[in-house]
Amino acid sequence: MYKIIRFSTSKEVELIDITHHVEGFVRECNVKEGLCIVHAPHATAAIIMNENESGLKEDIINTFMKLVPRRANYMHNRIDDNAHAHIKSAMIGSTVIIPIIGGRLARGTWQNIFFVELDGPRYERRVIIQVIPGG
Ligand code: ZN
Repeated sequence: MYKIIRFSTSKEVELIDITHHVEGFVRECNVKEGLCIVHAPHATAAIIMNENESGLKEDIINTFMKLVPRRANYMHNRIDDNAHAHIKSAMIGSTVIIPIIGGRLARGTWQNIFFVELDGPRYERRVIIQVIPGG
């Protein structure tokens, strides 16, 4: 069982809360126990889980930008101009796996699910949500 959600992004770097999409699909699937995989099939985006608080979202973005600056002597920039976004995506990861217990995502109260745009704005980004039943 899977679902693909599609959306646009409006900033170069931003966190987009997709928790409601994931929870909605898990409810539709009516699976009591299993796993939910949330995957971004992109080389310049990522998926994280964390608190949806505006200051913290800025802190996370600013820290990523400090760790991997936009401008540096990147080899990839000989053919493209977004090495920093690829490197951030590789460091953060494109997939999260969340247990489903009692028909619900077993996530912490402050663990929302975010798509992380790292090379926006983009007309179409996708996230694959897959539910795998099994106790
Ligand atoms: Zn590139």
